[in-house]
Amino acid sequence: MSNEVLLMPANEIEKVKAHYLKYKIERSAPGVVFAAKLSDTAITIYKSGKVMFQGNGASREAALWNGGTSSTTTTVKSPLTKGDTLPEHFELQSVVGSDETGTGDYFGPITVAACFVPAHQVELVKELGVKDSKMLTDELMRRIAPDLMKTLTHSVLVLKNEKYNEIQGRGWSQGKIKAMMHNQALKHVLKKMEPEKPSFILIDQFAERGIYYNHIKMEKEIIRENVLFSTKAEQLHVSVAAASIIARYAFLKEMDRLTEIAKTAIPKGASAKVDEIAAKIYLKHGEEFLKSITKWHFANTQKAMKLVQKRKF
Ligand code: MN
Repeated sequence: MSNEVLLMPANEIEKVKAHYLKYKIERSAPGVVFAAKLSDTAITIYKSGKVMFQGNGASREAALWNGGTSSTTTTVKSPLTKGDTLPEHFELQSVVGSDETGTGDYFGPITVAACFVPAHQVELVKELGVKDSKMLTDELMRRIAPDLMKTLTHSVLVLKNEKYNEIQGRGWSQGKIKAMMHNQALKHVLKKMEPEKPSFILIDQFAERGIYYNHIKMEKEIIRENVLFSTKAEQLHVSVAAASIIARYAFLKEMDRLTEIAKTAIPKGASAKVDEIAAKIYLKHGEEFLKSITKWHFANTQKAMKLVQKRKF
């Protein structure tokens, strides 16, 4: 199946709509202003002025509209990513992507999300504002995430601090915790999608394949089929970028909750500022409370205790 996207000016878009009016279908997806279906081609017009042609007749139909600037098809794999070699036109395939967040933050959970973006929704997901998530602010992600969660089959796991501290105390490394969570989230998404299957699964790589599978070797159900690993995977398929935004959203929601119960703004990261807030929370609410909202084994705990002893902050 081929896929062509043209970026067209408003007056040209009106001509396209008129041309396909007979074949118009209702599509209530966000960002879509018009959709039509021929026997071998689906035409979708987006708010941004992009017109997508999908199906066996895609190039024939797109060729009728040469006024536009062709914008899709090939993205060359960024030389800065490390991992599996991806199949050609990977960015246009039906993929389940997964990513995590919160691993370097003293306060708050680790969250992992996995989500499925089928080929026909790749453009739609971009239209919803999904780009390389490293380029998006938290505020933007808060706005985009609810639409993504409505639109896409997904799973999001939030590992709260109490549970994190318990399993970390039992000797689980962060790598193992992440691997277990990715496997779990992928399992959920694949189950929800049944009987449909993705062409590939792409995990934003935090460990090499062998290490990843070693971490989860005792699990009953291990997701292995068509699994690819790459660093910076959010640049390689929108499913990973979307998963990253959903994971971030869940992280921010939990941080909001912690801010509420601690009655002070909870900072991200693991800087000296974080030590100070931790020391204040310790003095106000005690050790048990502080432990219940942090990754207790981080060096920040010792640094905060030093501040408490000196009362210097
Ligand atoms: Mn990642």
